[in-house]
Amino acid sequence: MSGFPGGLVVVILLTAVAGGIWMISNIVIALLFYSIALLLLVIYHLRCLAALDRWLQIPVPTSSTLPDGSGAWGDVFARLARLMRNLSQSHQQVSLALERLRRATSAMPEGVVILDVADHIEWCNPVAEQHFGIDCNRDAGQPITFLVRQSQFAEYLATHNYSEPLIVKQTRHQELILSLQLVPYGDKQKLLISRDITRLEGVETMRRDFVANVSHELLTPLTVIGGFFETLSEENWVSSEMGKRALVLMADQTKRMQRLVEDLLTLSRLENSQNQVREENVNVADVLRELYQEAQSLSSGRHHISLNLDTDVKLLGSIDELRSAFGNLVSNAIRYTADGGEVILSWKNQNGQSVFTVQDSGIGIDQEHIPRLVERFYRVDLSRSRGTGGTGLGLAIVKHVLNRHQARLEIVSEPGKGSCFSAWFPEKRSIVQKDE
Ligand code: ADP
Repeated sequence: MSGFPGGLVVVILLTAVAGGIWMISNIVIALLFYSIALLLLVIYHLRCLAALDRWLQIPVPTSSTLPDGSGAWGDVFARLARLMRNLSQSHQQVSLALERLRRATSAMPEGVVILDVADHIEWCNPVAEQHFGIDCNRDAGQPITFLVRQSQFAEYLATHNYSEPLIVKQTRHQELILSLQLVPYGDKQKLLISRDITRLEGVETMRRDFVANVSHELLTPLTVIGGFFETLSEENWVSSEMGKRALVLMADQTKRMQRLVEDLLTLSRLENSQNQVREENVNVADVLRELYQEAQSLSSGRHHISLNLDTDVKLLGSIDELRSAFGNLVSNAIRYTADGGEVILSWKNQNGQSVFTVQDSGIGIDQEHIPRLVERFYRVDLSRSRGTGGTGLGLAIVKHVLNRHQARLEIVSEPGKGSCFSAWFPEKRSIVQKDE
């Protein structure tokens, strides 16, 4: 582009020259000169504008491809060149930071998938590609539920409660067990973190199988030994007082071991994910009437026991599991309440939720122990639990049964005053009776 001067100075200069021509020649020549000069000035500005427009239309405009210009246009192009250099520097810095972030995320042992507001894949690291059998370049923009097809994952995504991870078996690789956790961030975006827990689950399965097998193997010899002790005591085969006392003790301990083994087997069955909850129509009122009778015989008249059936709502679930869980709560209430104490069993419906409550006026539990009560073999007072014939597994069984029925356990207790254990069942498990 030619270095044509521009701006107000040029116009003033041209006017002065045109004035000079008028003075030494005539007005027609002066006007002709002035018009041609102004026309050339306009053509110059139009060419510069067109050059700027062409430059702006380049897909990646850079400072090196900027057109030349002089005067005011030179200033404009110089400023644009500076702006482009700054822009390219910040672009490089952002790219570098992004690349570093991408390398760090790629090196993570966990799979990471970035999801947009509509749960479509924005980006993922190589581990996630491996876990889900996807290709980040090919599958970017696809809904995540198209690629992670397990129905539990779609449910997990819809709940918007991601405090607990979801364990899934990856169908594309049958042997892969993944722990998936969604982490919301930014403007309704989400991070999907996947961990391969196949080995961990393998060890856990081995532990479960081992406990189940050992318990199963122990059950038969224990039943035989228990049977012999019973026969020996009944037939009066042992004559000495010492021998009789030993026989009673041995029979008691065998019974305790049998209960322990049975509880371990129950827990194994409840933990087995293949063992789905049976969806039966459970008449809770009938179950509680039976448990009330059993509680009376366990207490042998030592406690005031009452049963309040405020609703006839039935539950959708496994009758055996529910009977076992409720039975454990009732037996605990009797075992941990001194003679003369009170035990109240009740079945209510509150705001659509059904609740089974066992209230006792027993020894109560210190607040610090409550969160740990449902752990296996956790006892507030070991000697007392053993003395009452406890196995230390009762509340662990209760927790598993309630989890399997999407119910929750609430424990309110005060030492010396008593305890209240409530099992809350969600509305979807309640079957409200229709008038016939
Ligand atoms: P255990 O067989 O020892 O009773 P559980 O799992 O049933 O085992 O209960 C765990 C512990 O919780 C018990 O050892 C006892 O300390 C406490 N506990 C359970 N129920 C009650 C209750 N109703 N009152 C007081 N303490 C209780």
